[in-house]
Amino acid sequence: MKKAYQIVVRGIVQGVGFRPYVFNLAKIYNLTGWVKNTQKGVEIRIEGEEEQLKKFIDLLPQRAPSHAKIFSLFIEEVPLSHFEHFVILKGERANQVEFDLLPDLGICEDCLRELVDPTDRRFEYPFITCTLCGPRFSVIESLPYERENTTMKYFPLCERCREEYENPENRRFHAETTACPLCGPKIELYNAQGILVAEDREALFKAQKAIEEGKILALKGLTGFHLIARADDSLVIEILRNRKLRKKKPFAVMVKNLSEAEKYVFLSEKDKELLAAPMAPILILPSKGNLPYNLNEGLKELGIFLPYTPLHYLLLKDLPFPIICTSGNLSEEPLLFENDEAFEKLSKIADLFLVHDRPIKRPLDDSVIKKAGSFYIMVRRGRGYTPLPLHLSFEVSKPILAVGAHEKNTISLAYQNKIIVSQHIGDLDNEEVLARFKKTIEDFLELYNINPLIIVADYHPFYASTKWAKQWGNERGIPVVFVQHHIAHLYSVLAEEGINEGEFLGIAWDGTGYGLDHTIWGGEFFYLNGTQYNRVYTFRPFKLLGGERAIKDIRRTALSILLEIFGEEALNLPLPFLKTFEEKEILLLFKAWKEGINSPLSSSVGRLFDAVSALLALCYNNTYSGEAAMRLESLYSWDIKENFEFEVLDNFYIDWEPMFKGILEDLKKRKEPNIIATKFINTLARVVQDIAVRVGLNSICLSGGVMMNSPLVQRLEELLTKKGFSVYKNKNFPPNDGGLSLGQAYFTALSLRE
Ligand code: ZN
Ligand code: ZN
Ligand code: FE
Repeated sequence: MKKAYQIVVRGIVQGVGFRPYVFNLAKIYNLTGWVKNTQKGVEIRIEGEEEQLKKFIDLLPQRAPSHAKIFSLFIEEVPLSHFEHFVILKGERANQVEFDLLPDLGICEDCLRELVDPTDRRFEYPFITCTLCGPRFSVIESLPYERENTTMKYFPLCERCREEYENPENRRFHAETTACPLCGPKIELYNAQGILVAEDREALFKAQKAIEEGKILALKGLTGFHLIARADDSLVIEILRNRKLRKKKPFAVMVKNLSEAEKYVFLSEKDKELLAAPMAPILILPSKGNLPYNLNEGLKELGIFLPYTPLHYLLLKDLPFPIICTSGNLSEEPLLFENDEAFEKLSKIADLFLVHDRPIKRPLDDSVIKKAGSFYIMVRRGRGYTPLPLHLSFEVSKPILAVGAHEKNTISLAYQNKIIVSQHIGDLDNEEVLARFKKTIEDFLELYNINPLIIVADYHPFYASTKWAKQWGNERGIPVVFVQHHIAHLYSVLAEEGINEGEFLGIAWDGTGYGLDHTIWGGEFFYLNGTQYNRVYTFRPFKLLGGERAIKDIRRTALSILLEIFGEEALNLPLPFLKTFEEKEILLLFKAWKEGINSPLSSSVGRLFDAVSALLALCYNNTYSGEAAMRLESLYSWDIKENFEFEVLDNFYIDWEPMFKGILEDLKKRKEPNIIATKFINTLARVVQDIAVRVGLNSICLSGGVMMNSPLVQRLEELLTKKGFSVYKNKNFPPNDGGLSLGQAYFTALSLRE
């Protein structure tokens, strides 16, 4: 007997070759009807013999394409329409977007094979893609996901591409971003004056040649510009550093394949898998230390990734050295993605520009992931991961817009049963980043068709994101709520773990966050339960001499701590860092400390890292965020198990005084910096263990920028699990301020339930 069904598939089902898959499956069982993309996901109308229908429905979730993820199947019997064929229909636009958009995907194996096959018509074509790989989120202009709604609409398919696109047997059947040398995007090489130098193959060849000669290349890639230079030449690196005004921040390196990667970093099987995955993140791994010192300033770790576009692949193919592949932007500014702007901004940095004519709708930085023993820490989430949502176990009662932090900003949307976190936007101090922040909000609201009914921002009144939220909300009559910084950090973990009840000890350590008592927090312990929280421990506060200035000039924090311990006598201690101050300067700082002028109180653990780093003369200036902490981390020695003393005062303040006295003692004994650095990090792990035992809750939740410190987190986990605690931490989202909008959104979503 014939029957007909209406099926709605929700999940990651657009841009993954799902419709062609359904089409072929229907053909196999002689079924008729249609399939189409909708805002809900994919809708299927299917009819035919009952037995065949049953097989179709059984197999549908089992054989789905590799990138597809089905979250739900809704099946309903409907009257027969007596279709003659099975067809793929054009999509339609409805209200809220219910399916999940796919991130941009690295090149797949099949495409890679064709790319190097001289008999293939796409041989060495830099924009080869199929239903399994290539641009997605970065080219989508509107929904549903179909070619005319992407920036590929400017490239009408040629006859042969159309044949493939329409042929159910072909692996490019309904591949929305497919193209070939005849009909697709092209590359061109320009010099810094904007004069065309070469096209197509010759452009690629000349670009390679230039890199080989030590030139710097601006390359328009998949989701934005890269700056590229050879990574094995310290002089070239120096030139790039000078031109980019990037003093010490490590550069990431791209190598042509895994066996090349193995020459420069230590790799496990799991690391290899992640490097070669379609997300193709930059992975920070233990370095073998055989590339120039100024590449990563002697750090023990190196960021490495593989070519994820055919264009990068072709560029690297014949180069006998690894390349620096870093974001194409000016220092502190957002990633560039449009040709004109890139020419304007990068002409003083790059010697040549290798560009193409496929517009990028929205820029995404490369994602950065750091290895920490047996687990990974998301450092920066962008290309390859955004916009995969976080699914919740409950429905959000009204759409929420969370605007994130001030640094490493991201924004989030919460609606239905999910939270979508934007790509990394940047530090909002910069005007252009602020403009990008506003644009990203506009873009997300439009793309997902959301009208937020509540806005959530950080409690800090001077964050640019907070100020924007207040104004935007007021203009529209939308309520704005504020979540304390460290609370947001901790709820980002609970969001990831899908936890919405129970008691936790939450530990949030970072550089700075505005506290409920208007001081600067950053070494906090909270009792958490549902949306109830209570600050139960913190670090003994100290003064940030000169406020914000102490964040860069970290000698000030070391000085401030010594003044707290020894008073004026601190000025006469025989420490190298003290000698680097001018006489007048140090007296002024002393006065500032004594009288509390422009010296806000802080309990930040991030700043303690700064102080120790300055005491050890490792670093006096944070030329990028987290530099001092990274230097200490890099010195960590696993065989040293000792730690310094610490005390807990008034059952509330963790006192660092015994620890700093211990450090001075060790310095006097001329102990190696790696011993002191290790003992310091071990002390922090001990502090957590001690407080955990005092508080006595079984579940411990860790977040904040300090939790990117891999030896610290590993030691912590080791100590805590040994004592029987369960440890929860961020997994797919950053523990740093990049995860803040997620925590804000989740905390608010939970509050709305009550
Ligand atoms: Zn492919
Ligand atoms: Zn074509
Ligand atoms: Fe933070």
